[in-house]
Amino acid sequence: MQAHDGMYIDGAWRPAAGGDTIEVVNPVDEQVIGRVPAGSAEDVDTAVRAARAALPGWAATPPAARAARLGALRDVLVARKDEIAETVTAELGSPLAFSQAVHAGVPIAVAGSYAELAATHAFEERIGNSTVHHEPVGVVGAITPWNYPLHQIVAKVAPALAAGCTVVLKPAEDTPLTAQLFAEAVHEAGVPAGVFNLVTGLGPVAGQALAEHEGVDLVSFTGSTAVGRHIGATAGGAVKRVALELGGKSANVILPSADLAKAVAVGVANVMSNSGQTCSAWTRMLVHRDQYDEAVDLAASAAAKYGDRIGPVVNAKQQARVRSYIEKGVAEGARLVTGGPESPYERGYFVSPTVFADVTSDMTIAQEEIFGPVLSLIRYEDQEDALRIANGTVYGLAGAVWAGDEAEAVAFARRLETGQVDINGGRFNPRAPFGGYKQSGVGRELGPHGLGEYLQTKSLQF
Ligand code: NAD
Repeated sequence: MQAHDGMYIDGAWRPAAGGDTIEVVNPVDEQVIGRVPAGSAEDVDTAVRAARAALPGWAATPPAARAARLGALRDVLVARKDEIAETVTAELGSPLAFSQAVHAGVPIAVAGSYAELAATHAFEERIGNSTVHHEPVGVVGAITPWNYPLHQIVAKVAPALAAGCTVVLKPAEDTPLTAQLFAEAVHEAGVPAGVFNLVTGLGPVAGQALAEHEGVDLVSFTGSTAVGRHIGATAGGAVKRVALELGGKSANVILPSADLAKAVAVGVANVMSNSGQTCSAWTRMLVHRDQYDEAVDLAASAAAKYGDRIGPVVNAKQQARVRSYIEKGVAEGARLVTGGPESPYERGYFVSPTVFADVTSDMTIAQEEIFGPVLSLIRYEDQEDALRIANGTVYGLAGAVWAGDEAEAVAFARRLETGQVDINGGRFNPRAPFGGYKQSGVGRELGPHGLGEYLQTKSLQF
């Protein structure tokens, strides 16, 4: 798609207040593919005012009519599916088939789920002598990362619109073209002017201005824990609502009764897909000591097969960061069984699929989020040891448990300090609540729980 040189505010593309721009780079060949405006505090202010002005009308729009607009939005996303996939591939570098299936497919499912929820949710309930109204929280400031560019946007904007909120979005600087395409889709779907607004720009400038703006009632942020902590403090100081979806360091626990080959194959695929840039990726594989050597061999050969099938990471900075984690793993005594810090290609921000064995839970690579195609295999002695290792990080976003008997896996999963657990390879559910325990975040996205984040209650007593 062609990059817009303005911001989508109050139903139209408008010139930015200043002349600064952000270059969009294709991470496969390092070529500049477009430029978007780098918004300022002034642009954010204009967008928040538009969102505030549109709020009373949209909040009073019957849920069925809001549902109709979300249904239309879903239909536009379906019609423009190929363009979405091509745009994500151009600015994120993911292989086209993955962009089609996941980067375009998942947001379509999520938008569809909120079209249905808006039509069916009970926005009013009776509790004893009270009628409780579920009302929109107000103006939402949404700040999103680049790793699943459209999904992260739709997971905030669709429930916000379903709830009757209005939105100002500040997308990641690496993937603004997908955000512009989304704004076009919102426009085409007939969403009224001012209900959705887009300000592209740098995090510490436009993102910060949005998080601080007194016209914003709820800040919904997905990104790194460091920035999330800062945004949480800003929102706390202003007593405004905040939702934080942050990092993860999820464990894939393979119990001795499991189908080892399947558990390892699915586990490797989970880490390598999207080049490891998935906050919920199971980057620590926990294997019983009796099966450990076999699991290492299986993981090494499975990962090596991904060699030329994964895309690059998003930018040079992420590439350097991931490579330095790999070097640190080696320096701290982990055994590199495949991959390594060298880039497999001369151009592009590629990182080889990398597997470490003999990782212990005190190592940096077992504790910190790497956000690249790097898997660590950790040996455990018994189930209590596995549980201690699995729960032994500051994060708690996701995880997996494999066992011969589903009940055994569920019993273990119930003891994990994490917001999502896949049992024996359970499928992604776009309506199940997604969010973190511990420092992985505050709040939940997706499905009815995600809708609840954008609603506040008013009780009338009779
Ligand atoms: P990031 O925190 O640097 O940026 C995320 C967003 O915040 C971007 O739009 C950025 O411009 C903005 N931002 C940066 N500084 C800001 C500031 N001072 N004020 C306001 N906004 C600011 O993260 P990233 O590098 O873009 O994304 C990778 C991280 O996101 C990883 O740590 C990953 O785990 C996390 N993540 C979490 C989830 C989840 O659902 N839990 C999903 C995806 C990514």
